[in-house]
Amino acid sequence: MKTAQSKYIFVTGGVASSLGKGIISASLAKLLQDRGFSVTIQKLDPYINIDPGTLNPYEHGECFVTDDGAETDLDLGHYERFLNIRTSQDNNVTTGRIYQSVIDKERRGAFLGKTVQVIPHITDEIKNRIQRLGNKGIYDIVITEIGGTVGDIESLPYIEAVRQLHWELGDDNVAIIHLTLVPFLAAAGELKTKPTQHSVKFLMQSGVQPDVLVCRTDRPLSESIRRKIALFTNVKLGNVIASLDAETIYDVPLLMQAEQLDKVILNKLNLPKGNDPKLIEWKAFLDKFKHPKDTIKIGLVGKYVELHDAYKSIHESLIHAATYNQLKLDIKWIHSEKLSDAKIISALKDVDAAVVAPGFGERGVPGKMTALKYARENNLPLLGICFGMQIAAIEFARNVLGLSDADSTELNPETKEPVISLLENQKLDLLGGTMRLGAQTCRLEKDSKVYKIYGTETISERHRHRYEFNNKYLDRFEQNGFKVAGRDTKTNLVEILELQNHPWFITTQFHPEYKSTVLNPHPLFVDFVKTAYQYKNK
Ligand code: GLN
Repeated sequence: MKTAQSKYIFVTGGVASSLGKGIISASLAKLLQDRGFSVTIQKLDPYINIDPGTLNPYEHGECFVTDDGAETDLDLGHYERFLNIRTSQDNNVTTGRIYQSVIDKERRGAFLGKTVQVIPHITDEIKNRIQRLGNKGIYDIVITEIGGTVGDIESLPYIEAVRQLHWELGDDNVAIIHLTLVPFLAAAGELKTKPTQHSVKFLMQSGVQPDVLVCRTDRPLSESIRRKIALFTNVKLGNVIASLDAETIYDVPLLMQAEQLDKVILNKLNLPKGNDPKLIEWKAFLDKFKHPKDTIKIGLVGKYVELHDAYKSIHESLIHAATYNQLKLDIKWIHSEKLSDAKIISALKDVDAAVVAPGFGERGVPGKMTALKYARENNLPLLGICFGMQIAAIEFARNVLGLSDADSTELNPETKEPVISLLENQKLDLLGGTMRLGAQTCRLEKDSKVYKIYGTETISERHRHRYEFNNKYLDRFEQNGFKVAGRDTKTNLVEILELQNHPWFITTQFHPEYKSTVLNPHPLFVDFVKTAYQYKNK
């Protein structure tokens, strides 16, 4: 259904970060989607970077990439995985981007001699970005998640933009959800509501009254606690929602349905409720997730493994694929930088398959090389992604083709055997936004494994890298059993290298993990897990 005017839901956070605004937003969107509304979600990030493309994963976790080549916050990955829809550059806006466009306009003289200020110029730009999605005319509901925590200096213009939009669009068209924490104090033996009271007060000082409170807690909220919270915050009792810690993020839509978050929101927005969400396929997924027939143990080799968020999409894709095969994923994080070669090998002896993660720069490369060599020589099913493919090519060139100097020019600009290198037209000196980014089409070789796996000749996958396989070495690779199984349809660049005479050794220049969703698990991951399981039981 498409209602006349898009309705806007804002999700703010208080008390602490990491309460799961992204998952709550995605879960609410899922429930509304199941009721027949077309919904999208947007994330506003208050930091000054233009996008997270140049950020170290330790800062905010992985950088998610959309079809249109936007480098975005990892929450967009959750949105796509939950909703099974595509997001775009418009779904993630940072303060850096807001200021960049206001300053560009100022330089062009667009403000006609006026003093350019946070209010109204920055707030107007924020409001534009929020409404850009609604103005596309395809969404009944736009959910906008505001990053950070209420009270942060840098979030103030966003809260002010929400206040203004609420007035401009009218009370029926805007709902405000505030996510807070209700901690249990062991010494007092009680749940404490004061942090929530303070956080709502802070929001109200900025002129924003939340309609709904979602209270993150590790135990049920009693009626009297809910009453107390409602009393102190001007929020209706029925609009105080508990969000209990869940076994899996994929339970959260059902938990929010049980708390009637979707109904509360539809009442607020004066929208017809229609039928209650059935979430049939979603529940089928959860049923398999909770009743696995066996376990599959997969090693993930990377240099940021201590921060699991750095590999969020890969981890979730493996969960989707394991669940699809009715297996429980037991992931083993293998540090490619801190572990010795012997430790990496002994970790690999203990898994059914391994993934070699993407990455940049030389740290952790020798460890990844050790893992790839071990998997190649010992028939361990292996998926190499992006840098994982490039290092696999270097390892193969060195140890099979005998090119001892083989390298990537990213790692050794002077190498005599640049198996991986920059294309001539790519030699740029800017780091931000200059990579090969976003969806590109690839043609698969008919006699390859990947062709059977995808079941189609042309595929579209997302990229995020600067360096490429050097076609000068292609014949030698193929003659020695590392086959080019996919090429870019326009440039002929190598997109997939597939090892012959191995149960499953596939490496891709693109990132398949960005396209796996709960309802559409990615075929490469599904086949990888399936084959690894079969091979383990041989
Ligand atoms: N560092 C490599 C490149 O820039 C690979 C990037 C990646 O793994 N995403 O090409």
